[in-house]
Amino acid sequence: MAFVTELSSIEFIDLKMQLSQIRPSIDTAIARVLSHGQFILGPEVKQLEEQLATFTGAQYSLTCANGTDALVLALRALGVTAGSAVCVPTFTFAATAEAVALLGGEVIFVDSDENYNICPEKLRVACHEAKKAGLNLVGIITVDLFGLPAAYEVIHEIAREQDLWILGDAAQSFGAVYHGKKAGNLATISTTSFFPAKPLGCFGDGGAIFTNDAEYFETMKSLRVHGQGTHKYDNVRIGYNSRLDTLQAAILLEKLKIFPEELQKRQAVAARYASALQNVVTTPPMERNIQSAWAQYTVRLPEECNRAALIELLKAEGIPAQIYYPNPLHLQTGYRHYQFTPRKALQNAENFSKRVLSLPMHPYLLPREQDRVIEALSKLVSSKTKAVSQNLVV
Ligand SMILES: *Cc1c(COP(=O)(O)O)cnc(C)c1O
Repeated sequence: MAFVTELSSIEFIDLKMQLSQIRPSIDTAIARVLSHGQFILGPEVKQLEEQLATFTGAQYSLTCANGTDALVLALRALGVTAGSAVCVPTFTFAATAEAVALLGGEVIFVDSDENYNICPEKLRVACHEAKKAGLNLVGIITVDLFGLPAAYEVIHEIAREQDLWILGDAAQSFGAVYHGKKAGNLATISTTSFFPAKPLGCFGDGGAIFTNDAEYFETMKSLRVHGQGTHKYDNVRIGYNSRLDTLQAAILLEKLKIFPEELQKRQAVAARYASALQNVVTTPPMERNIQSAWAQYTVRLPEECNRAALIELLKAEGIPAQIYYPNPLHLQTGYRHYQFTPRKALQNAENFSKRVLSLPMHPYLLPREQDRVIEALSKLVSSKTKAVSQNLVV
């Protein structure tokens, strides 16, 4: 045991290291806000929105209080009301489906593809079935899970065929690139989150919405501040209070400066994991024209591998590993009443939820720390796998 305690623990996501790189500029940015005192929708908010639009390539960018609100504001602008049916991947964070449910919409769960994103073939079937059953199908929510963009090319085709909008939940993929276009500019409306652990995180809650449609933008801008009309006390619709704090905007402006470099560092960490682990576990794809933002580095263990025991052993070696997500949403207590899609059509998600494991991933992960993760995982996966699996390589 003495040997084990000598090894320091590796951080799953190291936010302290990032802060230490930019601490003086963050302190200055915060001090500037304290001096001008415009805490609500101050100049930094506008500045950040302009920079986010430039970064993503989307024409309009609107910040808001968090990534969940971003989804709700977008769905409201898209006209979702009670009785609207929306296709949603079942293997995601609850907020994706929650936003639809909060507006009284019908959630139609769709299974995952090999990359954990909404499966286009099954999406096509779900759309067909929903329309055949007489549901008021209005749109599709895609999630770029773990940072990897969904299969937008095919999904856009389906949306065109079926006359549906696409809401891109890019909470985990801010910074990702798909066929030359950035996450945030891949759907009718896209949303993201600045929760601290996301690729671009602030020091609290925050979110943003992106679109190329002026009308959606104006509606969401109004919804963000109590359905505001032409002036503060003109309320043209029922809205929300969902502004991003000026302080958080000031912090994000500083973090955005180092973000492109951080994305490159994440990419290097991912490449190193991929080459060392591709024969040990199923590693995420690395394609030239689709670049993940690497919110998580999530591998799939062989079917016979005892994941719980593996996690404990890794922990004993100072290596944190997490399960995202232990249950697909169609099995969650709050969501299992959405039964339009039969459970047997959601088997990939159920299977993946039992086998996924997310490894330490952040821009400041050192090669020697990564080597510890790689060595431990390689050693432990084979010791915790009873029979050699046929589906190690997909
Ligand atoms: C984090 C997350 C959200 C919600 O973002 P918050 O800022 O925490 O509200 C929504 N969807 C996905 C896929 C997420 O990972």
